[in-house]
Amino acid sequence: MPSPLPPTSSLPSPNSPIWPNSSSLPRHDLLIGAERIAPMSGTYSTDIDPATETPIALVAQGGAAEVDLAVQTARRALKGWSRMRAAERGRILQRFADLLEAHRDELVALESLDAGKPLAAVRRQDLPAVIDTVRYYAGWADKIHGDVIPARPDALTYTVREPVGVVAAIVPWNFPLMIGMWKIAPALACGCTVIVKPAEITPLSALRVGELALEAGLPPGVLNIVTGKGSVVGDALVGHPGIDKVTFTGSPGVGRGIMQGAAGNFKRVTLELGGKSANLIFADADLDAAVRAAASGIFFNAGQVCSAGSRILAQRAIYDEMVERLAARANAIRVGDPASPETTMGPLVSKAQLKTVLDYIEIGKQEGASAVAGGMRVGERGYFVAPTVFANVAHEMRISQEEIFGPVAAVIPFDDEADAIRIANGTAFSLAAGVWSADIGRVHRVAGELKAGTVWINTYGYTDVRLPWGGAGDSGLGREHGDAALQNFTEPKTVWLSLR
Ligand code: NAD
Repeated sequence: MPSPLPPTSSLPSPNSPIWPNSSSLPRHDLLIGAERIAPMSGTYSTDIDPATETPIALVAQGGAAEVDLAVQTARRALKGWSRMRAAERGRILQRFADLLEAHRDELVALESLDAGKPLAAVRRQDLPAVIDTVRYYAGWADKIHGDVIPARPDALTYTVREPVGVVAAIVPWNFPLMIGMWKIAPALACGCTVIVKPAEITPLSALRVGELALEAGLPPGVLNIVTGKGSVVGDALVGHPGIDKVTFTGSPGVGRGIMQGAAGNFKRVTLELGGKSANLIFADADLDAAVRAAASGIFFNAGQVCSAGSRILAQRAIYDEMVERLAARANAIRVGDPASPETTMGPLVSKAQLKTVLDYIEIGKQEGASAVAGGMRVGERGYFVAPTVFANVAHEMRISQEEIFGPVAAVIPFDDEADAIRIANGTAFSLAAGVWSADIGRVHRVAGELKAGTVWINTYGYTDVRLPWGGAGDSGLGREHGDAALQNFTEPKTVWLSLR
């Protein structure tokens, strides 16, 4: 429950040093229109640094009333934003990118603190991708158009692309800023207004980005940030008749509920869900490169990546060598303080995620797999898990079928191409896959057979906002990125003009 709070003006900025007791923690209110708004219930959650388990901030818990206010605000802002000259929208987005760049260090620090991500990784990977995403879609703003389609000689028939309307963007905690921006930037470029619901445990960067967007000249109400529980704020957004489109990244279970909840007014829905991606290593591959990429494919961001290569399929002839080399790589990872430049793996994001991952490690052991590296928690403070490699994994085991979302690799042997494809395609997911081989014919054959939205050949894990991203089955519905995102945030309108 909330304790009496000091006024917002007397509080330090979000990236100030951690405060000693919770009543003096920085308080973060909702961002609706141009205002920071306290929650009507007066309830704040305590945001925790996952590396130290120390409270770092108090975050407003929105509810249905705040969602309704945000929807009304976004609807009011829609007309002006969608009818603004498209080139001007693009210029505002470019200024937004400039400001993100100018505040790069602050945002890096905030994201690292809130999500436990190594500072160096956020600086190298997340922030550049965030800025690139905004610039890419800023460039699209005045290039979104329909077609003249000559259907009949007695009519001029053409299409225009109109903004879909008010968008609810529901974001997970593993890449709060980057995945958030994959939704915000294309929606804004298309002339939509947006309400962002960050994950409850990583809300800080979204709130700061919302402020920077206003500073860049985004009209009030075009981008609103409503923090709070998924089951409250997320659910209220999904069910609200004033929302036209839901774009969601998160777990398959919540995604299923969103599809059902969105049916009321037939909201458009895009879902980016989970994965259990297979990284196939054939005996003729460049094994040095394959081991390096397979290790970072599962251990990057402590395995909390939807496209993590969590199943490493090694051809039987090289299986033992792969297991040994992956274990050596896992043991060489420096797990620790995200702020230290030495650190290559931070903590998991939360106590709940720590429990999930440790439970799966136990399940793997009970299923008969052997933990040849890691297999346990690291330390007693902070949510750290040792990078874990399981050998002797059978395809049917739970650790081979279910998404763990932690630094746990299942190394599975295969005999030949057909066997590798059968195992790779044998889960409910289809987000991504990797193939390693020196045989050019084989890599193309296998890439063609893999059930995956993205296939990496002789590399692993890259994404780029210019390339479609997403999957089918338990991995979701639709695609983000590139011009696919423009389809997500616009509706075509057919115009038929009689020439008679
Ligand atoms: P989650 O589904 O628990 O939460 C995601 C978001 O949904 C959060 O903002 C949460 O508050 C909100 N939410 C929760 N319940 C809700 C409800 N009833 N209605 C509306 N919103 C609700 O997922 P998570 O634990 O934050 O993220 C991990 C999952 O996300 C993993 O399964 C992972 O694979 C997936 N993921 C996928 C991608 C991708 O691009 N495909 C990227 C990152 C993460």
